[in-house]
Order: sequence, then C-alpha cells, then structure tokens
Amino acid sequence: MMKTLLRTASAVALLALSTTTVRAWWDMGHMAVAAVAYERLTPAARARAAALLRLNPNFDKWVRGVPAAEQDRAAFVHAATWADDIKRSNNYQRGSIAQDGADATANAGYSDHLVHDYWHYVDLPFSSDGTPGESPRAPNALTQIEAFRRALASNSASDDVKSYDLVWLLHLVGDVHQPLHATSRFSRGMPKGDQGGNKETVCLAFTCGAKLHAYWDGLLGDRGGPSDAEALAATLPSPDATAAAVEDPATWVKESEQLAEQAVYIGPIGDGAGPFALTDAYQADAKRIAQQQVALAGARLARLIDAALR
Ligand SMILES: [Zn+2]
Repeated sequence: MMKTLLRTASAVALLALSTTTVRAWWDMGHMAVAAVAYERLTPAARARAAALLRLNPNFDKWVRGVPAAEQDRAAFVHAATWADDIKRSNNYQRGSIAQDGADATANAGYSDHLVHDYWHYVDLPFSSDGTPGESPRAPNALTQIEAFRRALASNSASDDVKSYDLVWLLHLVGDVHQPLHATSRFSRGMPKGDQGGNKETVCLAFTCGAKLHAYWDGLLGDRGGPSDAEALAATLPSPDATAAAVEDPATWVKESEQLAEQAVYIGPIGDGAGPFALTDAYQADAKRIAQQQVALAGARLARLIDAALR
C-alpha cells in the first residue's frame, strides 16, 4: 500500500512538473554531483572555491542557518543549482541565441543578467531510420564548459568572473552527463528532432503525460537541501577510475549521446511521441544509469576544478 502510494505520489509530481521549466537532473541530482566533487577536492582547491563562491549574490541565502564549519561545503553543493535558480528570478531575462546576439557568449560575471537556457545542453543528433540530423548550435554546454574552465584557470579573469564560471561549471558538468542533455533523436515523424526527449511522453504507474526528458531529469529526486544531497552522494557507486580520469568534455558528451541510444531510446520507447508505458525493467536500469552518471560527473568535476584552481 505504502509503496503504491509513494509511486502514485511521485508519478503525480512528475506529471505536475512535466509542463514546467526543464531542469536537468533537477536540484537533487545537481547537488549530488557537487557533493561527490567536494569530497574529492584537494584542501587548496576547496579553500579557493569557497572564497570564489562568497562572491555569488545568493551566498547569504545558501548558508543561512548553516553552522560556520559547514558553510563552505553547503555553499558549494547549493551553488550547483544556481544556473537553474536564475530561470525563476525576476532579475534575469530569457532569450534565444539569436535574441541575445553577442551577449550569448559573453563571459561577463555577475553583471550578466541573461538566463542562457541554451548553455544547458548540446544535442548531438542521432537517427535510427536514416533521417538526417542537425548539428548542435553554438554556444552550448560544451563550448561553455571549455570557455569557463579556461577562464577559471587563467591569470587574467577577475574573481567575479571566476566565481560566475565556477558556479556554471558546477551545474553544466552535471547537465552533460544526463543523456538527454546531449542528444536529439531525428526521425521521419520528427524531422526537426525531439529536443532531447521533450517531444515524447511516458506513462508511469497510473499517470501518463510526463515528458521523457523530465522523467530522466527526475531520476535522482527533486526534494531536499544540500545535506540530503550529501547523504545521497554517499550512497552512490564509486565511478570507474579510468572513466573518472577522462578530462575531455567532448568525450563526456559523446558518451552521453551513446548512452541515450543504448538506454533511453529502447523499448518500450518506440518511434513517435508516445505515450510509452515504462516497464519496471526500463525504470530500474534508468535509475542505475542516472546514479552512475551523477557519481561519474562528480568525480570528473573535482578533477576539473582541482586542475583549474591549482
Ligand atoms: Zn541545466
């Protein structure tokens, strides 16, 4: 009974969220990536990251009520959601790449009040029926991870810009490990692509209508704060050491796209828009892959930050 109730509740939550803003991995997944990374950082990188995060306009909010000794960790974990949080702020403005023009690639620090939705993904095309795909537009998650990493490691960028870049990296490294933030499926029925699973819907337990993309985003849960994310991170499997040592973001994105082919767009997900009723086996595999990807993203993020803040 309890299990049924819980499944119903999460299905209803998914349905409710399916029509709202897309938020990769949702907050818990993003914070768990940062929690994994924090555990692996060198003390020097932790201290430098802590100093930079104090420059974020939300820093006071992140550490409110947190004991002094825990503030650096809490801020680091919470900072991973900032790139999503600004989507709901009246101080930030949405726009497309074309609307934002030269500002779409500006790395101006916290004076930049654009939301930059298009920085959150890089959709590599694939097709199983021979429909030609379209290459992802720039700027995208890959161009921005590379730009922010360079600036974070540079001697020329200001601390304001480095803080902004660090906060974005905490988020984007998580995003590109979500297979549907790295993929668009092109088919005869969807010749313009499915926008990373945003055009298909799925059925769970007793409800239909959640987007496939949102289902994958929500696999690690949504509710909870940084301490919940730290507890979750502690339960994740240790990533493979060889995989964790891969430093090239283009390889991370390619892996995610391949994961989408192997584990997302498989039965019961068929051609077209659905709705597709997800089996228990599909859901169990999806959850296991999400946990692996979040742990791997955290390990890679730690290496990236260590190298940049050395
Ligand atoms: Zn995102």
